[in-house]
Amino acid sequence: MDPVPILAALRPGERHVVSVLRDRDGATRRELAELTRLPLTTVTATVALLIGRGVLTETVGAHGPRGAGRPAATVRIDLAGRVAAAVQLGRTQQSVTLVRLDGRVLDRGDLHLDLTQPFEATVKDLADAVHRFSGRSPDVVVVSVAMPFRQGVGAPPIPMYPPGETPFTRPRYPRPEWLLSDPSDLLSRALGIPVVIENDINLAALGEAGHGVARGAHTSVYLSVVPGFGAGIVIGGRLFRGAGGVAGELAHISVREDGDLCLCGNRGCFTTARRNGPSLVDDIATAFGRTVALEEVLSLAAGGDVMVRRWLTDLGRSIARPLIGFVTMLNPDLLVVDSALGPAAEAVADGLRETIEHRTSAMTHHGLDVRPGVLTNSAVPAGAAVLAAECYIERLLA
Ligand SMILES: [Zn+2]
Repeated sequence: MDPVPILAALRPGERHVVSVLRDRDGATRRELAELTRLPLTTVTATVALLIGRGVLTETVGAHGPRGAGRPAATVRIDLAGRVAAAVQLGRTQQSVTLVRLDGRVLDRGDLHLDLTQPFEATVKDLADAVHRFSGRSPDVVVVSVAMPFRQGVGAPPIPMYPPGETPFTRPRYPRPEWLLSDPSDLLSRALGIPVVIENDINLAALGEAGHGVARGAHTSVYLSVVPGFGAGIVIGGRLFRGAGGVAGELAHISVREDGDLCLCGNRGCFTTARRNGPSLVDDIATAFGRTVALEEVLSLAAGGDVMVRRWLTDLGRSIARPLIGFVTMLNPDLLVVDSALGPAAEAVADGLRETIEHRTSAMTHHGLDVRPGVLTNSAVPAGAAVLAAECYIERLLA
């Protein structure tokens, strides 16, 4: 199926200039002439055309030589002028966030899609919601899903059980059949806009790497703690998905050989071990003698409540133990703790840091930083902006 065009195709000279700018944070016209080996007059004319078409933008500033009169303008791909709709199909909440491709969030609204209805009806509802909410057609739609997802293939089926026939009574995140094969081309056709589908934790990792605390890190690992445990890996600014798209599925690291059976077909997975232990809110509720909500617990942690902070530090320690081998293999320079925890993430980071320093060699933990994410609830939309920018530039150069 043909890709949906974003703009009319670039001519070869224009494509050359854009491809040079893809991997750089801007260049002057003179630098572009050197990098493309095109005459300066050709570069100047091409840049003027591309600025006119909204592909490039320029700023006058620091790049110019000092004392040489007017500083030279820096030319960049214009990401601020392009917009993505980040559609989050979460476990308990759905939303649409309008975000510029440079990462700035513009607007957010709730979404109520029935994921169990037939695909055609979902597509129609999704298209209506995106267009109604955006007020204009976004350049790219990024759909975030709370399950592993491999581009071009889809979500892995739950082993042993056909879709919709899992023998579990506990309410589970609905896994619509249409996600079992990648529907992004069909969605692109229906919406008239490129659509990319990605796992939510991967997007949060990309968000913190592109626009948050992991900006500038070489290898960062984002650790999601609530509601599910998992990791997103970003190496050199690019998401590392692994061969099958399930890199970082830490919830299914086996921590107990004789543990409970897990939905994934394994036994003693980290996620089952945690689910059977007391949860944060259960533990705090027992101590308080009343029910508490997660938000209250997180705000107590942010306020320095010693009991809640102790619980979170212990959680950091328990997460760190199955991560030891992973950290040793990957040698990251930064572990980012769940942005959604807000100020409560610091206590989890303390537990992680302590155990990793205690259980790994100095070679591994030297230079490894553990820091809370800073994007709170906008990590996923920020990651959607990074992915949408990649998609937009790829289409420009196609
Ligand atoms: Zn499992």
